[in-house]
Amino acid sequence: MKNVIKINLCRRKIREFNPIWAFAPRRGPKVALFYPAPYEVASQSLGFQLVYALLIAHGIRAERFTTDSCGFSLETKTPIKKFDFILASSSFEIDYLYLADFLKRYKTNQKVLVGGLSPMANPIPLFDLVDYVVLGEAEATIPQLASDFHSGDIEPREWLVSSTSEGGKKAWIDLKDAPLLASQFLPLDIDPPWGKGFLIEVTRGCPHKCRFCMEGWINKPFRERDLKSVIKVLREVGEPYEKVITLSLSLTDYNDYKAYLRELASLEVTGSVPSLRVDGIDEEAVELIRAIGQRTVTVAPETTLPEKSKVLGKGFNPSFLKEKINLVKKVQLKPKAYVMIVPGEHLETAKKEIENLKEIFGKETHFTVNPLIPKPWTPLQIAPIPSDREERVLIYYKKNLPNADLYPIRWAKLQAILSLATKPVLKYLDPKLPPSKQIAELAKVIDLSELHKWRTGWEPPWMNFEVADPREALRLGEESYEAWREVFSESRT
Ligand code: SF4
Repeated sequence: MKNVIKINLCRRKIREFNPIWAFAPRRGPKVALFYPAPYEVASQSLGFQLVYALLIAHGIRAERFTTDSCGFSLETKTPIKKFDFILASSSFEIDYLYLADFLKRYKTNQKVLVGGLSPMANPIPLFDLVDYVVLGEAEATIPQLASDFHSGDIEPREWLVSSTSEGGKKAWIDLKDAPLLASQFLPLDIDPPWGKGFLIEVTRGCPHKCRFCMEGWINKPFRERDLKSVIKVLREVGEPYEKVITLSLSLTDYNDYKAYLRELASLEVTGSVPSLRVDGIDEEAVELIRAIGQRTVTVAPETTLPEKSKVLGKGFNPSFLKEKINLVKKVQLKPKAYVMIVPGEHLETAKKEIENLKEIFGKETHFTVNPLIPKPWTPLQIAPIPSDREERVLIYYKKNLPNADLYPIRWAKLQAILSLATKPVLKYLDPKLPPSKQIAELAKVIDLSELHKWRTGWEPPWMNFEVADPREALRLGEESYEAWREVFSESRT
């Protein structure tokens, strides 16, 4: 097989299919590209893949680092001190623990830049160990960053903010100007979490406004790929890939959704689709999903109760949901479902929700029950962070709903604190600490009591860095608070 290289993890070498590295320049600026997770997880981040390919396409000698490469590059085992810049990409707040650890251990005197969903939503927590946060999509920012790397100097820009910036604005692209990433690296000797898949992004952003969903708010506007160019790339997918992994926040809103699934079904390799909006499910869709080789359908109704739906900005009435789930079951697909609890949810509310869920889904369905985690730029950024009270409600779900998994409350709380931090906190983070101890460390610098209440009228400082619609987020936040106050306020203020 062509384009196979050996890459260096801490304790072993493994083979990687890598059609990109052959184009890496021998000379020129050296950029250490870090992903704060193990290699196999990094390999399934389309953002990481894209930044790597774009840097190399722009004449940068980019080499990758992961949490299991021990401070040496995957490609040539070069130590980080030999690189001119560090560029990291982070999707989730919990990644900050590993990012902080990496920078504290290995960084020398290079400038550090970080991009990705969570830093873009709130760059402030990163400003003690990170010089710049990139507020924008890779295609819109990497070409200009590459030119800065060539000149050796980082220029201030609207979408590149630092601790001294007073404002900033997101840079994004029209997908028509951004070809699909046809060259992707793939581990050959280990299986990544979703299998040996080729990643294909058919839409970006989401047209809906669920009030807790940071991805939906930050990635607006909703954009769609031209089906012809998607098909062209799909038809080239074969060995060593075993499947096509579809990336889309809201696949059923894609205009060419069914034509895309039909094309996937005609391929030699299997396909997979992400969780689907309940309202986009119909008979033909579930048959096509079965035909691509998928065995489960994940839905995230979040709630079946109008009083919770008014707070969350998402939810489906029981009879509508049941009709859709029956379609899923009719073609022998297994449904999986995500459910969310609201702050201060009463046990009677939980009881009604559980009864509805059992009646709709039956005994076999696997549920994941999450507390609401307030995130920047969402209307629910003003909601209380998860507490022990929500933990009791989650445990009630676990006891009464067969096959329910819970998102652990301490991790949810840590995630919320990191996401809403209005001070730099990276230097206080340590991935070796359990979440409760980590929260205790953070409590020395952040006033957690404020975060345990609703913060109506709050205009948080990250809103100076405009990555979503501020008026809409604030307006819907106040609406959610009013809806919550009417029903749930006696248990919490
Ligand atoms: S929860 Fe799903 S449908 Fe709602 S905004 Fe987020 S991605 Fe879109």
